[in-house]
Amino acid sequence: STKLTEDQYFSSYEDLEIHRLMVGDVPRTSAYRTAILDNPHLFKGKTVMDVGAGTGILSLFAAAAGAARVYAVEASGTAALLEQVARDNGFSEVITVLHSRVEDVVLPPDETVDVIISEWMGFYLLHESMLNSVLVARDRFLSEEGTIFPSEARIYACPCSLDDLYREQLDFWDDVYGFNMSAVRSSALDEKAKKPEVCIVKPEHLLAKPACIKTLNLRWVDAEEIANIAENVFVSITKAGSYHGICVWFECDFDGIDYDEEGEEFGKLVTLSTSPSSEPTHWKQTVVLLGKIGMVTNEKSQSESDTESTNVKNTVQLPANSQTVPTTRANSSYMKLEEDEVI
Ligand code: SAH
Repeated sequence: STKLTEDQYFSSYEDLEIHRLMVGDVPRTSAYRTAILDNPHLFKGKTVMDVGAGTGILSLFAAAAGAARVYAVEASGTAALLEQVARDNGFSEVITVLHSRVEDVVLPPDETVDVIISEWMGFYLLHESMLNSVLVARDRFLSEEGTIFPSEARIYACPCSLDDLYREQLDFWDDVYGFNMSAVRSSALDEKAKKPEVCIVKPEHLLAKPACIKTLNLRWVDAEEIANIAENVFVSITKAGSYHGICVWFECDFDGIDYDEEGEEFGKLVTLSTSPSSEPTHWKQTVVLLGKIGMVTNEKSQSESDTESTNVKNTVQLPANSQTVPTTRANSSYMKLEEDEVI
């Protein structure tokens, strides 16, 4: 696998098409907008840090929600655009641009921030290891009573059928210009099974009730806890279909709920979901194909009732909290993920 320098990682974020992809991702950006604008009690008069501000949309939301000061921290060259974006929207007095890695930021002595906002999520949540940088910022700058948005993240997994991918990429070999080239098929499957793939999975292709395999409380989680995540979950297949692989996705909560002196609840909980049954996002879903060894056909459910469950045991592995340049937020129908580290 290719090792990437931090410079390469940040220059990948100088591609403005990537920013258009992210900012134009409606479920993503509108979740942040609702979480910020519908929880003004967290932002009004407060000091906010936007970790990885990009082209500035989250800083603008925070300023619009009434923040007194927003530190827009951005390491890549897009930081050069932020000052103008703030000015053009009348927020030059509120938004302070810091063109720096957040790890190198120094605030005035004893200054803390009330809120950290950041959009750090990668494929299957942790593919892009930016969360570590957010945790450094949290531990250095967030006040004791401070809020971090998102506040919780969860990873889900579910056995699935990948009929579309099989049809397009494997059945292809069965008839090539009238020749039987199916010998290539099983090697192609082995190759596919080696790396997770990012693609859209239809909700009807899920074969069981999704299992939550990890919950991260982002106010308190530490880097060690996310370095290696291993979980054994028991899943019962409840739907007929070919069991081709495991589908993985994530959800994030922005919990702005609080209680007044009378115990009355106010504020809002917003959830951003990248599940197959939610509106698609640029993260799509990640699938780990089972090679021909792992594959079973769920014949029992097919031949008998739909509700009867079949128990199967498989192990899947995803690159642990890794970071990759070419596949950081790229956009194509099927995309392989490489295991990578930033040096
Ligand atoms: N907040 C923007 C951009 C999100 S993409 C939006 O919601 O549209 C993540 C951004 O974080 C990228 O622009 C990337 O360059 C930046 N980034 C990643 N790691 C960082 C770090 N350690 N310090 C500062 N910026 C970082």
